[in-house]
Amino acid sequence: MVCKFPTSLIHKQKGFIRIKHILPLKVLKMDFRSGEKEETLRKEIREFVKEELPSGWLTAMLEEESRDEDWAFAMSIAKKLSKRGWLTMSWPKEYGGKGASLWEQAIYLEEVGYWGIPGTSMGVSGVAWVGPSLVLFGTDEQKEKYLPQIASGEPDGVWCTGYSEPDAGSDFANIRTTAIREGDEYVINGQKIWTSAAHRARWMWIAAVTDPDAPKKHQGISTIVVDMKSEGITVNPLVNYTGYHIFNEVFLDEVRVPCENLVGEENKGWYQLMRSLGYERGSVGVGAFGYGKRILDELIMYARETGLFQNPEIRHKLADRAIEIETAKMLAYQTIWKMSKNVIPVYEPSRDKVFNDIVTERLAITGTEIMGAYSQLDPLNRDSRWTKLKGCVEGLYWLFPGISIAAGTDEIERNIIAQFGLKLPKSY
Ligand SMILES: Cc1cc2nc3c(=O)[nH]c(=O)nc-3n(C[C@H](O)[C@H](O)[C@H](O)COP(=O)(O)OP(=O)(O)OC[C@H]3O[C@@H](n4cnc5c(N)ncnc54)[C@H](O)[C@@H]3O)c2cc1C
Repeated sequence: MVCKFPTSLIHKQKGFIRIKHILPLKVLKMDFRSGEKEETLRKEIREFVKEELPSGWLTAMLEEESRDEDWAFAMSIAKKLSKRGWLTMSWPKEYGGKGASLWEQAIYLEEVGYWGIPGTSMGVSGVAWVGPSLVLFGTDEQKEKYLPQIASGEPDGVWCTGYSEPDAGSDFANIRTTAIREGDEYVINGQKIWTSAAHRARWMWIAAVTDPDAPKKHQGISTIVVDMKSEGITVNPLVNYTGYHIFNEVFLDEVRVPCENLVGEENKGWYQLMRSLGYERGSVGVGAFGYGKRILDELIMYARETGLFQNPEIRHKLADRAIEIETAKMLAYQTIWKMSKNVIPVYEPSRDKVFNDIVTERLAITGTEIMGAYSQLDPLNRDSRWTKLKGCVEGLYWLFPGISIAAGTDEIERNIIAQFGLKLPKSY
């Protein structure tokens, strides 16, 4: 609770400071209790997990985009989630949403993370940040065309995000891909890299330079929708060291896109992209602690079954991880609560992401320490009887460095916290 009161009501009397009246100017009570609606939703999701997922279902992070069979299963679940109105529940009803509250969505994301429900992100971008960005900046035609597609859980609703380039990652404004107007089309040339799910996506949400002569680089950038079936697009796989095919490099050679695919104002893309990145970073929070909680619960069970729980070092490490996961939950809930009070979070998604990244790293290390040699088994061999917890701990160990890079590295997130949270001057 934050409580402020005017200093004029503080009276000095006989050497003591006495507060005459405590008259709160701004009393903000944070109440994280779920209501009946939210708890009913939680129960329904747990029923769904029992009905639709094989018993003991547990997935390694980020694996569903890699193998065709996993992707097909994920997309079949996406359709079922869509039928229940859960996939894009917080969107307006007219675009395939349910107009659900932020708290309902938080419960959904928490359960999705905990149970590892596949298909919930459909290649990540569309559900989590392209859709919400289109709601804010898209034309009516764009909203009518793209939002119901995403909400349907069908393959045409799968998106990828084209921000990063070989010389532009943290230095996002340094992108070189150009989209130059020719009549009623943009002609796009350039290369994107680390494009998650580009091999699955129907559409790309791309950042491109529309004014190469802008006085400052970020003043010449726009956001455009690109049809991945367009001529001139080449998608090459980049298989990561876990053996997953998540990333791609995407080459765009004279790709022609109708000008109506521009989202928002030309050359004002930078400001929109900052909002989209906020959605992206924010989307990490709730799902990440949900998943972390599941891995922790699995490790606790493993420690019980194997007798390892008797080792005080292991007990303490598990207790530390439990404290951290609970703290991550509180941070995510605080961000959601602020949003529910119409406060636009600025540094909070960065804070939540950095903290989740730290928690994920510690959990992965604790997990490998507890499981010893078993944790060395490749998550791709998840069905082997020697692969404990379906390779999730090993998967987490391989993937935590990437998690702390995706959506903005932890150093960049800390810069944002320093500037907007701590009000320190911008660094160069
Ligand atoms: C799992 C995963 C999924 C991804 N998916 C996508 C995707 O779908 N689409 C997409 O466009 N991109 C994607 N990316 C790419 C990601 O956005 C970039 O890797 C990220 O922005 C960092 O850029 P970079 O790799 O060029 O590293 P660089 O920006 O070159 O950074 C290298 C190092 O320098 C540090 N550094 C850089 N600048 C500063 C600074 N100002 N202050 C302090 N430290 C600094 C960084 O923190 C980092 O440690 C993904 C990455 C990962 C790991």
